[in-house]
Amino acid sequence: MGKWVYLFEEGNASMRDLLGGKGAGLAEMTNIGLPVPPGFTITTEVCNLYMEKGEKIIEELWPMVLENIKIVEEKTGKKFAAKSGLPLLFSVRSGAKFSMPGMMDTVLNIGLNDETVELFSKESSNPRLAYDSYRRLVQMFGDIVLDMGLQPFENELENMKAKKGIKYDVELSAEDLKELIKRYFDIYKRFNKEFPQDPFVQLKMAIEAVFKSWNAPRAITYRKINNIPNDLGTAVNVVTMVFGNMGNDSATGVAFTRDPKKGDKGVFGEYLVNAQGEDVVAGIRTPKPIIELKKEMPSVYDELLKFCKVLEEHYKDMQDIEFTIEKGKLYMLQVRTGKRTPGAAVKLAMDFLNEGLINEEEAILRVEPSQVDFLLHPRIDVSSKLQSIAKGLGASPGAATGKVVFDADLAAKMSDEDVILVRPETVPDDIHGLAAAKGVLTARGGMTSHAAVVARGMGKPAVVGAESIKIDLKERLFTVNGETVKEFDVITIDGTSGNIFKGVAPLIMPELSEDLKNLLSLSDKLAKIQVRANADTPEDAKRSYEFGAKGIGLCRTEHMFMAQDRLPAMQEMIVAETIEERKAALEKLLPMQREDFYGIFKEMKGYPVIIRLLDPPLHEFLPKREILKEEIAQHEKNGEKDLVEKKKRLLRRAEALKESNPMMGFRGCRLGLVYPEINEMQVRAILEAAAMVIKEGDKVFPEIMVPLVGHINEIRLVREKLEEVAKEVISEQGIQIPYLFGTMIELPRAALKADEIAKYARFFSFGTNDLTQMTFGFSRDDAESKFLPVYLERGILPVNPFQTLDRDGVGELMRIAVERGRKANKELEIGICGEHGGDPESIAFCYEIGLDYVSCSPFRVPVARLAAARATILAKRQYEADK
Ligand code: PEP
Ligand code: MG
Repeated sequence: MGKWVYLFEEGNASMRDLLGGKGAGLAEMTNIGLPVPPGFTITTEVCNLYMEKGEKIIEELWPMVLENIKIVEEKTGKKFAAKSGLPLLFSVRSGAKFSMPGMMDTVLNIGLNDETVELFSKESSNPRLAYDSYRRLVQMFGDIVLDMGLQPFENELENMKAKKGIKYDVELSAEDLKELIKRYFDIYKRFNKEFPQDPFVQLKMAIEAVFKSWNAPRAITYRKINNIPNDLGTAVNVVTMVFGNMGNDSATGVAFTRDPKKGDKGVFGEYLVNAQGEDVVAGIRTPKPIIELKKEMPSVYDELLKFCKVLEEHYKDMQDIEFTIEKGKLYMLQVRTGKRTPGAAVKLAMDFLNEGLINEEEAILRVEPSQVDFLLHPRIDVSSKLQSIAKGLGASPGAATGKVVFDADLAAKMSDEDVILVRPETVPDDIHGLAAAKGVLTARGGMTSHAAVVARGMGKPAVVGAESIKIDLKERLFTVNGETVKEFDVITIDGTSGNIFKGVAPLIMPELSEDLKNLLSLSDKLAKIQVRANADTPEDAKRSYEFGAKGIGLCRTEHMFMAQDRLPAMQEMIVAETIEERKAALEKLLPMQREDFYGIFKEMKGYPVIIRLLDPPLHEFLPKREILKEEIAQHEKNGEKDLVEKKKRLLRRAEALKESNPMMGFRGCRLGLVYPEINEMQVRAILEAAAMVIKEGDKVFPEIMVPLVGHINEIRLVREKLEEVAKEVISEQGIQIPYLFGTMIELPRAALKADEIAKYARFFSFGTNDLTQMTFGFSRDDAESKFLPVYLERGILPVNPFQTLDRDGVGELMRIAVERGRKANKELEIGICGEHGGDPESIAFCYEIGLDYVSCSPFRVPVARLAAARATILAKRQYEADK
């Protein structure tokens, strides 16, 4: 193992693995000349070694820490554990590779004891500050390092304020604080613990506590939710203390170099005068907007703006910074890439591209597919008459409706239901509740409070700082403007406007912003795999086209027969006992199908449209047998003879069609092989509709798809028969109609025998819903409600294979099918139309194995377009890196 401890000037931004995000940021800022208080970082490797070998690692580390303290002493001209002069004090801060806000520990003011506090008081001429700092150290040390919890200290603080008849901590005098420290030491005694007076012992114990906090339950939960590996470890930053609470010329704050909510230009942040950093992040006092600093401390404000610009240009992205002003001098305490709302992510990517700071590929990589998904979520219809009952700060956009719950544990327990977590403010320990809730509402805190930051990161709607709501945790209700909302009542929150509504608010579907449209056009330009949509109606087709689909990858014709006006004709067809009867029923269905196809073709304006021949088992079109039996009994009672006869006929047919394994039964191409008239009617409807479009002077490109083929003879026979129908229609119409025949690959046998099947198919489309079902032998209808959750919980399977393609098994079959299919038929066009076609990870796999397109539901099309471009870019980068 290399070096264990790095001075800030020895590190840089690329060392996040080793120094953690915070350490790497402090190092980088130091090196580009920004004012960072001197300090050093103990690497994540040391944390991992400590996890493995325990305390002896701290002993091994110690001489290196001492060596670095000396250097910092030289730089600052102050001494740690000083006997005279202003004492050097440290903060000890955690900092993993990925930001885990508030999840791990920090201890401030290390180095104060009964003696140095006197020096600090004298040298700073600020006794109140000295004793307040000491008080905070004793409290944090007890809570974090010695595990005594915060509550005993908070209680003492509250008692003290009550005794003095004051409301705020800042009103306590130096004498009060001295008294409070004594009482804090009594708490230590009650716990049988001791506060170490030796600053070196304090530092050693604090470093160890930060290492340990990597494995605190809330940190583990956070990592699980955010897919952060457990073996990264945290670095520990030992930083010279600077004080934002030295008076009214001091302050502390956080800022984003651009607006993290909308992405607008201009520094956006908050600060508190005469306060320490934890006061801002905790959301207890409501801070002032950064613009007021311009009035209060104009030169510091200018400097801050300048540093923001330097950082943004340096990192080429929006940054989130923490700063402290000590007696008019600005210090930078943290820099990291700023978390942003999905809308801001898109705007920032396009703005940075237009400003020439990043290139096109980088702009696409700046936005996650899940963020685009979020932008397609519904919003509250502002034109609705519903009156909001209160308003807070819209901290994370989107609307959420759910039952009010007042604690995180309950929210987590009720994760099957839609709940809104309502809290005075949230703390890091609430993380599991935030993860389970649909949205969060707090009465206190600003745009950078814990709830706001975490909700934005999770892409969850949040309203914070709704100060007019009065939460009564004992009675489990909140009141606002004369209204009472009890636990489990339903509310809707709008994280965009900050409005809160009682009950369910009406929602509207969003439109794509100009920036998003531009980002998606850019995606289409760079992506080497196309996106089509699964659409069954002209309306769906219209939406797909508007969302940028380059065709329809799957039109499930059965959905057309489910409509109320069509079902009777469909049922007639199913109960038909002779070919003539069946043909007569199909005659009725033909014009309806033709009309649907015509509508879809028109909407798709010449893009290819794959229409799948009837697929599901016929019993799906009949009423359930139990229901039929009940109805027959009722009709008999009413003496309705005709109806009794009709229903009995349906029942007989339903009984005859009953199967033990309908998913492996009489469905797919098997239907068409037994009752060819169905397919014949459908092909006729498709081509007649196409002819209508062509005659109107428009373009059309139908592709006819045969489902559930497993054997070459199935596709061969179906196709031969249908080509005859096609010829017939073409000669009747007297024009050329372009069309292709192809098949779905949704059975393992079809994948393996793809070379044979490809002789009769111009295209393949992977039906990975069925292919996953048939490969695993998991019922797609039942597995997810029965055993799959247990499989996922216990890690038996890494992901739900119905959501994300199983690369190893199902994926292997796909690879084989692509390879064998293309070998046999050079013209073969291959896509996917199972649910996986809209899943970014699965899209990356489809690109990898060389598919021509993915097809997904219309609302996923924008997500898939971005995912397709990202897959292309990332694969190219990987290829270049491997070279
Ligand atoms: C599939 O099986 O993946 C598919 C797209 O067809 P369906 O879901 O209609 O069975
Ligand atoms: Mg299928």
